[in-house]
Amino acid sequence: MGLFSLFNAEVAMDLGTANSIVIHNDQIVIDEPSIVAVDKTTNKIVAVGKRAQQMQGRENRNIETIRPLRGGVIADFEMAQHMIREFIKMTSATRSVLPPALRMVICIPSGITNVEERAVRESAEQAGAKEIRMIHEPMAAAIGIGIDVLEPIGHMVVDIGGGTAEIAVISLGGIVCNKSIRVAGDEFNDNICEYMKKQHNMVIGERTAERVKIEVGSAVSELSDPPEDFPTLGRDIVSGIPCEKYVNYKEIAHALDKSIARIESAIMETLADTPPELAADIYKTGIYLAGGGSLLRGLDSRLSSKTKLQVHVAEDPLRAVARGTGIALKNVERFSFLMR
Ligand code: ADP
Ligand code: MG
Repeated sequence: MGLFSLFNAEVAMDLGTANSIVIHNDQIVIDEPSIVAVDKTTNKIVAVGKRAQQMQGRENRNIETIRPLRGGVIADFEMAQHMIREFIKMTSATRSVLPPALRMVICIPSGITNVEERAVRESAEQAGAKEIRMIHEPMAAAIGIGIDVLEPIGHMVVDIGGGTAEIAVISLGGIVCNKSIRVAGDEFNDNICEYMKKQHNMVIGERTAERVKIEVGSAVSELSDPPEDFPTLGRDIVSGIPCEKYVNYKEIAHALDKSIARIESAIMETLADTPPELAADIYKTGIYLAGGGSLLRGLDSRLSSKTKLQVHVAEDPLRAVARGTGIALKNVERFSFLMR
């Protein structure tokens, strides 16, 4: 921030369907799940982020947990706005003695509508933002990975988050072609729940499915360094009694196979839509993966054998988009593609 800047604080926000990250003064100050907990009787927010997540699946009659950004869109406007304001308030950016004059760059899923974009903007304004720019997720991911997005070279980025997998080819500071499908982390969790029901006669909660995915999730049925079978807790469908079953990574590879095949097809279609000069670039540079979904075991090698291209996983893929949004904030003047 320059000495004569009109802004007393600058904040970058990655508004993800699963996790939201806020950067202030080059530091990640907030990294929380995009969840709010509401008291249904009073309609008041009782918790956001990690505290709300702890209540997930353990709600009582009065408390409900909501993920306002499901499937890459804003599913619940009011709650999304509350959450955005809460996250901004939780940073020290608005705690200055002067009235807050925030400059913000916010990263939004690319499937978001104009109305939804306005809702995000309004919430940021209500929290004190005076200048707001928006950036789409694949662009922020590319910047966060370290790609020079302004150069005349094509790069393919695949960001697999909670709600959507976003595939984009970027060149000269713009998105050349892209595809967004609603197959990502949440869908993987659903696949795991269904598999457990069918195969093990067992009902498991969303958070348990998430643990199973992280502990023994795999995109391929042969791993050279396999994880140990995971003891999974749930409820037996037939007896209704709590139970425990050990789950193997091969089972999860099977459960996720169809979803991963859909991501593969979307990548193949995007490659087929790519203009030839850019395709030639991608042949040399390969495909870059970001987002939490890219941590799935064997996904990079599976995508690489499908596309016959090199596949690189971003360093710290859960934070690549936030890092890119932070870099965009420092380059607001140079990055003319940021949306006002
Ligand atoms: P979003 O941008 O939509 O908020 P993120 O990039 O933060 O999404 O990624 C969140 C998703 O990544 C979640 O669905 C989560 O389950 C998944 N994820 C996180 N860690 C892993 C892992 N080790 N293996 C597989 N999936 C993971
Ligand atoms: Mg994201």
